Amino acid sequence: MPHPKSLRRIIYIPFDHLNLSHGAMRYANKDEDLIVLVESQRMVDPSVFSPQRLFFLLSSARHFQLELEKAGFNTRYIKAPTTVEGIKEIQREFEGLQVFAAVQSSFRLQASLESIGVKFCENDFFLTKRTLFREWAESQKSFLMENFYRKQRARLNVLMDGAKPLGGQWNFDKENREPLPKNYAWTPYLKHSRDTIDEEVATSLGIEARDVWATTRHGALEQLQNFLENHFAEFGRYEDAMSSENWAVHHSLLSPYLNNGLLHPEEVIEAALKKFEEGSIPIASCEAFIRQIIGWREYINGMYWHLGEKYKNQNELASSRKLLPLFNDPSKTEMNCLKFIVSDIDERGWVHHIPRLMVLSNIALLAEVEPQEFLTWMRNTFVDASDWVMVPNVIGMGMHADGGQMMTKPYVSGGAYISKMSNYCTGCKYDPKKRTGEDACPFTTLYWNFLDANSENFSKNHRMAQQYAGLKRLSDFPDVKERAHQVLAGLEKGKI
Ligand code: SF4
Repeated sequence: MPHPKSLRRIIYIPFDHLNLSHGAMRYANKDEDLIVLVESQRMVDPSVFSPQRLFFLLSSARHFQLELEKAGFNTRYIKAPTTVEGIKEIQREFEGLQVFAAVQSSFRLQASLESIGVKFCENDFFLTKRTLFREWAESQKSFLMENFYRKQRARLNVLMDGAKPLGGQWNFDKENREPLPKNYAWTPYLKHSRDTIDEEVATSLGIEARDVWATTRHGALEQLQNFLENHFAEFGRYEDAMSSENWAVHHSLLSPYLNNGLLHPEEVIEAALKKFEEGSIPIASCEAFIRQIIGWREYINGMYWHLGEKYKNQNELASSRKLLPLFNDPSKTEMNCLKFIVSDIDERGWVHHIPRLMVLSNIALLAEVEPQEFLTWMRNTFVDASDWVMVPNVIGMGMHADGGQMMTKPYVSGGAYISKMSNYCTGCKYDPKKRTGEDACPFTTLYWNFLDANSENFSKNHRMAQQYAGLKRLSDFPDVKERAHQVLAGLEKGKI
């Protein structure tokens, strides 16, 4: 490292800005800047983040420091009780140097850095500036993602034919979202080799270094390539399908890298469009993938900032149950779907959007789990979790705890949806069609119970008219109610 006198500035890189060309690194100077990463004690507390999440975050950050050094930068990787204390420690050592960073991706970290006088450049890890999103949001009566997405397509000129959508339609949902056929021939997923940094991090966490997640930019680019070559064509068709035989189906598995900075959405979109132009990718699949990146991802981030810091505390349905034991231990349930999904999460810290929304959030909402309890679990568990990802997804979409600010109706369903979209129900102790009796599917029983218990909130919602008409027709509703009490008590005890 050069003599401290030649250093003029400290650049702070959080663990979700790991990119040489974006964020504060755009302005970095090899001779004058000291690049600092801080591993805070709060973050590595084993009672906070899951080991899989920690392994991914820490190993990626340590590899990034190595990449910075190879590129000729002066670096420091500090362990400190908190991020702010780590930055202060380095400020004491290099007295008088200004700290510089990109605007942070969470309310909490941004406020912490502002409180110690950090100077900021723009956060360019997204395709939509926060001001632009706010303009869009303020012009809307309701925040429909579809409206935002169409604007994005036109603004970014992605899959467009002049002013019209390429292929004549914005949305290919009808062609997509199929369940998997029986005896499906799976395409194997990429395995990432581990190096000494991975091994050291895994050992320090008391776990085995699994080969699921890349921890370098090189590995993240390999993952992108693997998706484009082997999974992109079938992605759309089976994007909502779930299977006990394959945890990834045809998902890209790119969200961890997009969310920690190893990949940038612009390069992912460019690579996907280039592959599509070669002609082997159906437009339905390409559109489904593009929608995830320029639509959902940007929309969720935009909503996080637009709805404000207090949004995460909302609990409009006044749900108050503690987190169910099954979320932390799959042996605490006999529901096949949840057993598989929670086991998958234990192993890799990841499942795709449908298990997250239609199984995990669904059971949390139906069982009246306090939204903040569920939010904390989601945020601490998933490898791709960030505050901006989980707050709108859980409070707005999954738990409908915001009184409908984001979504016009709650995402609740009985066992029929899970039965249609997965093979979990085959061999389950419960029957997705039954709502009463010992073998009734807990989703099905609780679904009707939820509609009844929340009829004041939702029975006048025209999008739920059909569901409430169905509820009225249930002649056995007293039995459903009784079974719901048993199911809720059993879920609390970890015995359903
Ligand atoms: Fe899940 Fe119900 Fe199907 Fe069992 S029957 S796997 S609990 S949806």
